[in-house]
Amino acid sequence: MPEATSPRTCPSLVRDLPAHPFDADADKLHEECGVFGVVGVAEASNFLALGLHALQHRGQEAGGIVTYDPTSGFNQARRMGLVRDNFTSADMMATLPGEIGIGHVRYSTAGHKGQTAIRDVQPFFGEFSMGGAAIAHNGNITNAISLRRELIERGSIFQSSSDSECIIHLMARSMGRHIPDRMEEALRKVEGAFSVVAMTDSALIGCRDPLGVRPLVLGKLGDGWVLSSETCALDIVGADFVREIEPGEMVVISAAAGVQSHFPFRRAKSRFCIFEHVYFSRPDSILGGRSVYETREAIGRELAKEAPVDADLVCPVPDSGTPAAIGFSLESGIPYAMGIIRNQYMGRTFIEPSEQIRNMGVRLKLNVNRALIRGKRVILVDDSVVRGTTSQKIKEMILEAGAAEVHFRIASPPTQWPCFYGVDTPEREKLLAATMTEDEMREHLGVDSLKFISLDGLYRAVGVAAGRDAKSPQYCDACFSGDYPVAPSDMIERGFLTKTAAE
Ligand code: SF4
Repeated sequence: MPEATSPRTCPSLVRDLPAHPFDADADKLHEECGVFGVVGVAEASNFLALGLHALQHRGQEAGGIVTYDPTSGFNQARRMGLVRDNFTSADMMATLPGEIGIGHVRYSTAGHKGQTAIRDVQPFFGEFSMGGAAIAHNGNITNAISLRRELIERGSIFQSSSDSECIIHLMARSMGRHIPDRMEEALRKVEGAFSVVAMTDSALIGCRDPLGVRPLVLGKLGDGWVLSSETCALDIVGADFVREIEPGEMVVISAAAGVQSHFPFRRAKSRFCIFEHVYFSRPDSILGGRSVYETREAIGRELAKEAPVDADLVCPVPDSGTPAAIGFSLESGIPYAMGIIRNQYMGRTFIEPSEQIRNMGVRLKLNVNRALIRGKRVILVDDSVVRGTTSQKIKEMILEAGAAEVHFRIASPPTQWPCFYGVDTPEREKLLAATMTEDEMREHLGVDSLKFISLDGLYRAVGVAAGRDAKSPQYCDACFSGDYPVAPSDMIERGFLTKTAAE
């Protein structure tokens, strides 16, 4: 298959995998990856590029596209950097002909953290006796290390350090007659979270894990079909939203036969990631039939009810705190104001080398609107507190600008546990809320008050009027509760203590 990149040799050793991958320089949880696929659409690669561009918030480190054309076969291009910098030229798109294809944008959650190698960039491709197949995976395989060890012992030669490559090797070992059968068998051996898009020379395949932790939606584009991590990417290509792929569902879609659906895994109660509502998904997407923007506004309203405070202004920490700040303002009657302005053209701070420059990074990204802030009691609404370094910097900037008081209101409960389902989280001891009480955090951040929305309040805001069912939670909320719906077996093997083990 033509490949525009130059793959490097891979040591393929289990010991090369990081003990717990995280981006030490970032103070936000990062969504992992975005996936997109089309079938039955002329010039598929153009639609793939547009779709991936709309999903860029889910991963900015690298992206890739695979297409199939009857004349030239499978073609792929995988690149470091943004979609707009790699997949816009006519020359590049001409190397990706065909009416079927899949694509992926990546923020590394496994593999070599912060130093993504081109060999870790998806989609991955495998040639089988019945033809080629490519896959792109959003999520994280929690038993990847043990699977990888076993596969290497049995002769598999890995090309990357990505957990997702296990799926291709498991497919290679399957005796299934057709690629979807092999994929089904492979995914039965995989634990954790996965929303997968895959393709053969004629079919687009989509599959969600039995708990449906990560999103995947189906759209219709003319006579063709689209699979996407989020509905916002359907909008950009002009596709109509059809439905969400259900937890545990596999769809095999071809231009000729349309959508064929089945449920290959044991049925389980859905545990969709509640943090998608708070932060990861774009506010113009629809999740579970609800507008993400409206949910975030509802979170702000709940927060205002749960943690009212007398103040002059409600300001979002841009951009992700904006809808919740609007909700807080509407509920409390305290005026909303853009007290912090974001420089839209600033790169990400994590690529900068020293602590000093990193600290500057917050100031380069965010600036205080001094004229508004001076002398005011300010409520700052943010989506989450991870390590607390950014919150501290923002508080300093607001006080330097002459604010009389600073009150933090956080649109998620305290993040106390790492995510093992495809979200980049620091190790537990680096999470501020894992080591301090709310009052200690307030003191540490040096603010007049600090309040987080309660877990029940968050559930109410996402539409569960009765709140969280502690016996059988309706969502995955492990990063707040420590209640992991799938045991993170690799991490437990490496010494991670779950809540029950720690108690
Ligand atoms: S642990 Fe948190 S971020 Fe990870 S899937 Fe669950 S709710 Fe989402």
